[in-house]
Amino acid sequence: MDVLVTGGAGFIGSNLIRHLLRFHPSMRITNLDKLTYAGNLANLVDVKSDPRYRFVRGDIADAELVNQLVGQYRFAAIVNVAAESHVDRSIADAEDFVRTNVQGVSVLLEAARRFGVSRFVQVSTDEVYGTLSGREKFSELSPLAPNNPYAATKAGGDLLIRSYVRTYGLPAMITRCSNNYGPYQHPEKLIPKAVTSALQGQRLPVYGDGKNIRDWIHVTDHCRALDLVLHQGVPGEVYNIGADNEVANITLVKEILDIMGLSHDLITFTADRPGHDWRYGMDATRIRRRLGWKPQVSWEDGLRQTIQWYTDNRHWWQKTFDSDNWWRDCL
Ligand code: NAD
Repeated sequence: MDVLVTGGAGFIGSNLIRHLLRFHPSMRITNLDKLTYAGNLANLVDVKSDPRYRFVRGDIADAELVNQLVGQYRFAAIVNVAAESHVDRSIADAEDFVRTNVQGVSVLLEAARRFGVSRFVQVSTDEVYGTLSGREKFSELSPLAPNNPYAATKAGGDLLIRSYVRTYGLPAMITRCSNNYGPYQHPEKLIPKAVTSALQGQRLPVYGDGKNIRDWIHVTDHCRALDLVLHQGVPGEVYNIGADNEVANITLVKEILDIMGLSHDLITFTADRPGHDWRYGMDATRIRRRLGWKPQVSWEDGLRQTIQWYTDNRHWWQKTFDSDNWWRDCL
C-alpha cells in the first residue's frame, strides 16, 4: 500500500508515520510537508533512512505539485494531517489557516478524485463543534459551530470533504479528535509549554481562571485510531476520537508541577483568550463499537512519560523556545 501522509513532520504526523511503518511492514509512505515553523524533520530522524519512507518538501495548496505527486505514485490512500494548528496564531492572523486548512484540502480532494485514490482520511478536530456548556458530549451528529478562525477553517475543510463524498462518491472519512499530548509536540501547545517553562523555572501563565476543560488523549492512541479508520473506516463516515479524559486547565498545570516537584506559585493568571471555548468532551462510542478502538495509555502514565520526554530532550525544544516564543505568555 502506497500512502501519502501530509504534514508528517509535525507532532501527530510524525507519530503517525512512525506507527504505520512499525505496524505495516509492506506500507510505503510519502510524507509531503511544507516545513512551516511547526514542521521539524528531526521528529523523524529514526525513520529517514527506511527504504519505505520518502520525504517531499511542499505545500498541499500547490495544485501542480500535488497533482504531479499523486499522478506519479498513484497512492492507494491519502491521510491529510497537514494543517495550521495553533488557535492563538489563527487569532493573530488567519490567512495561512485559510490557505492550508481550506484551500489545501480542496487541492488534495481534487487530486484524489482525478487519480482515483481509494481511501482519504481527513484528520480533523473536536474544535469544529465549538464549545459545551452542560454535561453533554459531542457526538458525530453535533452541529458544526466553530468559535475561532482555526476551528472555522478546519470545519471548512470538513464540509469540503462531505461535499466530495456526496457529489463525487469520493471514499473519504473524517476523524475528529480531542486534545493530543505526547512527544514531539511543539512547545507552543499547552502541555509542552507548561513543562518546558517549568523546566526553565519560568512562570506558567494560565488563561482566565483556568477552569476551561479539555479532553486529553495520548498521541499514540490517536494514531492507532487513525490506522483503524484508514484500513477499516466506512467511506463517508465521521469518527470522533477521545479518551474520556476531561481535565480543567488549572488542574492539569498543577498536576504537571506536582509531578515535577515544583511549587504552584509558578502559576499566574492572564486575560482570557478571545472566543475561548469553555469545554470539550468527545463521545467516541462509534469508533469504539464499530472499529473496536479503545485508548491504551492511562493519563497518569502518559503525562509522566511526556514530562520525562521533554526533560530528556531539551535539545529538541530549547532552540524553538528561545527563538520564536511570543506564545509563551498564555496557556
Ligand atoms: P502541527 O502544527 O504540529 O503540524 C502540522 C504539520 O503540517 C507541520 O509539519 C507543518 O509543517 C505542516 N504543514 C502546515 N501547512 C502545510 C502545508 N500547506 N502543506 C504541507 N504541510 C503543511 O500540528 P498537529 O498538532 O500535528 O496537528 C495535525 C492535525 O491534527 C491538524 O489537522 C489538527 O487540526 C489535527 N488535530 C490536532 C490535535 C492536537 O491536539 N494537536 C487534536 C485534534 C486534531
